[in-house]
Amino acid sequence: MEQAGARRTEGKPLIATRLRPLRDNRAMSLAIDADGTRTDDRPLNWINRYAALGPAFRTALPPEPLPAPYWVGQSCRTGALLGLAQDWGDSDELLQAFSGNRLLPGSAPIATVYSGHQFGVWAGQLGDGRALLLGETESGLEVQLKGAGRTPYSRMGDGRAVLRSSIREFLCSEAMHGLGIPTTRALCVTGSDAPVRREEIETAAVVTRVAPSFIRFGHFEHFAANNQTEELKQLADFVIDRYYPTCRGTEKFGGNAHAALLEAVSERTAALLAQWQAVGFCHGVMNTDNMSILGLTLDYGPFQFLDGYDPGHICNHSDTQGRYAYARQPNVAYWNLFCLGQALLPLIGDQDVALEALESYRTSYTTELEACLRAKLGLQGQLAGDRELVQDTLRLLATEKTDHTIFWRRLSHYAADAQAAPLRDLFIDRAACDTWLRRYDARLAQENAGVAAAAMLRVNPKFVLRNHLGELAIRRAREKDFSGVSVLLKLLETPYDEHPDHEAEAGLPPDWASSIEISCSS
Ligand code: AMP
Ligand code: MG
Repeated sequence: MEQAGARRTEGKPLIATRLRPLRDNRAMSLAIDADGTRTDDRPLNWINRYAALGPAFRTALPPEPLPAPYWVGQSCRTGALLGLAQDWGDSDELLQAFSGNRLLPGSAPIATVYSGHQFGVWAGQLGDGRALLLGETESGLEVQLKGAGRTPYSRMGDGRAVLRSSIREFLCSEAMHGLGIPTTRALCVTGSDAPVRREEIETAAVVTRVAPSFIRFGHFEHFAANNQTEELKQLADFVIDRYYPTCRGTEKFGGNAHAALLEAVSERTAALLAQWQAVGFCHGVMNTDNMSILGLTLDYGPFQFLDGYDPGHICNHSDTQGRYAYARQPNVAYWNLFCLGQALLPLIGDQDVALEALESYRTSYTTELEACLRAKLGLQGQLAGDRELVQDTLRLLATEKTDHTIFWRRLSHYAADAQAAPLRDLFIDRAACDTWLRRYDARLAQENAGVAAAAMLRVNPKFVLRNHLGELAIRRAREKDFSGVSVLLKLLETPYDEHPDHEAEAGLPPDWASSIEISCSS
C-alpha cells in the first residue's frame, strides 16, 4: 500500500502552477518542461511530517479518480493562505489535483487511522474512510481531500461525499473563519456527475480542506485502546512539539508535559465551545472522532446555526435522543475531553493529575462564555447584576424562541440609535421586551453607548449560514448554477459587514426552513 501517487501521476506533469510559501518570500514558481522534467522547485514543498510517524499511523494510497470534475466553489482566502497563485482557480491541473485525479509532485497521500466514541458508545476503529491527507505543505498547513474514494478505513462506506454536504462544509468552514471561530478551512469544492447512492441517487463532490492538523481525540483513543503505548507517546510528543511547545518545560503538574497537553486542549476546547454557544452554532455530531486536538471546529455534517433561540434544539435528524442538542454541547465537550484524558492516562501516569488538567475546562468555559455574552450585550466594564442580566436575556429569547442572529444584530443597532421598534417587532409579548429593555437601558447608560454599539456590531453577525440559505445554493448548484455558492461565500466571509444589497439573506427564515431535515447522511 506504500505506492502513493504511482497510479495518478504517471505521464501527467503539472505545469504552470505557481505557489509561494507562507513564511518566506522566496519565489516558488513551478517550472516543468513540456516533457515533464522538473527544472525548478516544486509548486508546494511537501514535508509530510504526519506520514513520517510511521505505518502504525496511516496507510499510503492515492485518491480514486473522479470523472469529469468541475469547480463548484473556491475560496480565494484559503488559496492565499496556502500561497497559491491568484489565478489558481483557472487551473485545470489544480481542478484535477483537488478532485483526486492527479497528484501534485511531492505530495504523498495517506489515510490516517483513529477510533472513537460515537453517540456515547465506543465504536472501535474508524479512520479516514473517505478523507485523504495529500500532505503537509511547507507553510505548516495540511491539505486534505474529503470524498476522495475508499480507503482501508471505509468499512461499509463508498469513500465518497455528495454535493450538498460538500457545499455545506465548504461554506461553513469559511463562515466560521469569517466569524472569528477556530475551524478547519476549505479551499474548494469540485463536483462530478458521478452518481452516489444515499437515500436517493445524488452526485459526488470533493472538498479540499486545510488545517495545521486534522488530528482528533480519536487518534489518541485508538492507540490507547490497542495498548500501543509507544505509538501513543509518539503521537502525543508529536502534537506537543508541533502545536503545544509550551507544554514542555512548564512547572505545572510537576513538569508532566502530557498533563499540560490535556490542560491546553481542554482550554482550547472550552474557548471553542463558548464561541459556538454564543453564535448559536450546533455541531450535530460531537463524537470524539470529530473533536480536533487543536480546538478547531471539525467535520461539518448536520450542523445548524439556530434560527429561533431554543436551548433544546436538535439539528441532527439522526440524533433521536438529543444527545447533541444545542444546550448540551458544552457538557458533551467535557465528556469527550474525559475520553481524551482516559486515553492519555498511560502517559500522564496519575489519575488525579489528569482530573486536575481536565478541571481547566470548567473554569475556562465559564470565563469564555461570560466574556462572549458580555461582548454581545456591549458590556465593557464589570458591574454587579451583569450576570443576571445575561441570564435573563437568554431567558427572554428562549420564551418565544426569538430569532437568535436577528435579535443580537438589532440590539447592536439599538445601542447606537435607541430605536426600539425593530427589536420590539421580534416579540409577541411586547411588555416583556419593554421590561427587559428598560433594564438594559439602565445598564447601557453606564457604558459609552457609541463605543458599545460599534463593538457589538463586530461580534453580532448579520449573516450566518442558515440551513435554508445553504439549501437554496445547493438546489441551484444541482442545476450547475454555482452563483448561489459564491454569493453566500462573499457574505459569510465578512458576516459583520452590512452588505445592503443582501437583506434577504439576513432575514427571518421562510416557513419551509423548519421542514429541512439534515441527518448524518452525507
Ligand atoms: P462522520 O460521521 O462523517 O464523522 O464519519 C464517521 C466515520 O465514518 C469516519 O471514519 C468516516 O471516515 C466514515 N465515513 C463516513 N462516511 C463515509 C463514506 N461515505 N465512506 C467511507 N467512510 C465514511
Ligand atoms: Mg467525522
